[in-house]
Amino acid sequence: MARTTDSTDERSTDRASTGANDSVVSLEDVRVHFDETGLIDGLRGEDETVRAVDGVSIDIPENEIIALVGESGCGKTTLGKVAVGLQRPTSGTVTYRGQDIWDAKEGNGDPAIPYPEIREALQIIHQDPGSSLNPNRTVLTSLLVPLKLTEPELGPNQREQRVYQLLEYLGMKPSEDYAHRYPHQLSGGEQQRVVLGRALLMSPDVILADEAVSALDVSLRVEMMDLMHDLQSVFDTSFVFVSHDFANARYFAGTVGGKIGVMYLGELVEFGPAEEVIRDPQHPYTKVLSWATPTLDPDLAAEESMDPPVREIDIPDPIDPPSGCRFHTRCPEARAVCETTTPELVATDTDRQTACFRMDETHEYWDSQPITGGNDG
Ligand code: SF4
Repeated sequence: MARTTDSTDERSTDRASTGANDSVVSLEDVRVHFDETGLIDGLRGEDETVRAVDGVSIDIPENEIIALVGESGCGKTTLGKVAVGLQRPTSGTVTYRGQDIWDAKEGNGDPAIPYPEIREALQIIHQDPGSSLNPNRTVLTSLLVPLKLTEPELGPNQREQRVYQLLEYLGMKPSEDYAHRYPHQLSGGEQQRVVLGRALLMSPDVILADEAVSALDVSLRVEMMDLMHDLQSVFDTSFVFVSHDFANARYFAGTVGGKIGVMYLGELVEFGPAEEVIRDPQHPYTKVLSWATPTLDPDLAAEESMDPPVREIDIPDPIDPPSGCRFHTRCPEARAVCETTTPELVATDTDRQTACFRMDETHEYWDSQPITGGNDG
C-alpha cells in the first residue's frame, strides 16, 4: 500500500492502502537519489542527481500481490529493491514487521528481529535466471543449500525428498531427472522455476520478482505467472512484481485480485485494486499505459487506433524532472497550475489513490488555463 492525502482536508499525507493492516514490510517517505555528478560536472557546478525514487510510502501486507509498473527508469526496480533490503534509501525508512531493516543490518541498537532472519524473509528473482544460478551446481545441489539453512534438523535423505517434492510443485517432472541437471541443461523457463523454488525454500514473506518473466516467450510468461499464483497460496508469500509491461502486470495482479502501483519519474501516481485500475484508470499516465497495451476487449480495442493520449512521447530527464506535476510536460489534461504545484497521492475511493488534481472537483485546477497542446477540459 502507498501513502495518500485526504482530498477534502488539508493535504496531509496518508498511506496508500491495500485495505489490509497486517503489513510485513513498510516503506515510509522513501527517497533514493543517485549522485551521477562526474568530475567535469562538479567543476562546472552542475548537480547530476538522479531522483530514482522520490517520497514513496507503501505497505506490503501478508499474502498480497502488488505489481509495480511504469516505463524504464521510473524507479520501480529501485523501489522494489528498497522493499527487500537490497537498496538503502537516501532518506525515509523501511521496516520488516516493525524492525528497521538497515538498523538490523548494521547492528544499530538492539534489533528485535536479527538481520539473518530478515534476509531470509525477503527474497528476489531476477530477470536473468542464468546469472543467479551457479553453473557448476546441479539443480539438486542449488536447492539443498537453502534447505540446509532453513531446515537444519532434516537428514540428507529427507532433504533430497523435499527437493524432489518441490520440483514436482514447480512442474519439473520427472523430478529425479531434473534434479541432476546443470543450469545449461535447462531452458530459460526451467531455470526461472529453479530460482523461484530456491527463493521459496527460504519460506519468504515477500518475493521481489524483478522483470522475472520479461525474457520468456509469451506462452511461457503466462505459465510462469500462473505457477507463481499457485505457489503463492501454497507457501503463503507476497509478491512484488516489477514490470515495464502493463500487460504482464495486468495479468499477474488482475487475475488474482492483486494491486497495481503505477510509477512515473520516481513517484507513485496511482495505486489500487488491479481490476479497478485496469477497468477505470484514473491518472492520465495510467491511461497512456493502458492505451499502449493490446486488449482483447472489442470496445477498448477501438480506442487503440486513436492517437496516443500524451502530448510528448519522450520521457523527461530524471536528473532534472519537470516542476509541479512531473507528468505535466506530456499530460493532455495539463493546466497552468500543474506546472507549478505538485499533486499528492490522494484517496479517491476506499482503497484507491491517485496523484492528479482532476480527482478533486473543487481544486483550483478547474479554473486554471489549459496548457497549449492539451485538452480543453
Ligand atoms: Fe495531468 Fe495536471 Fe493531473 Fe498532472 S496534475 S496528471 S499534469 S492533469
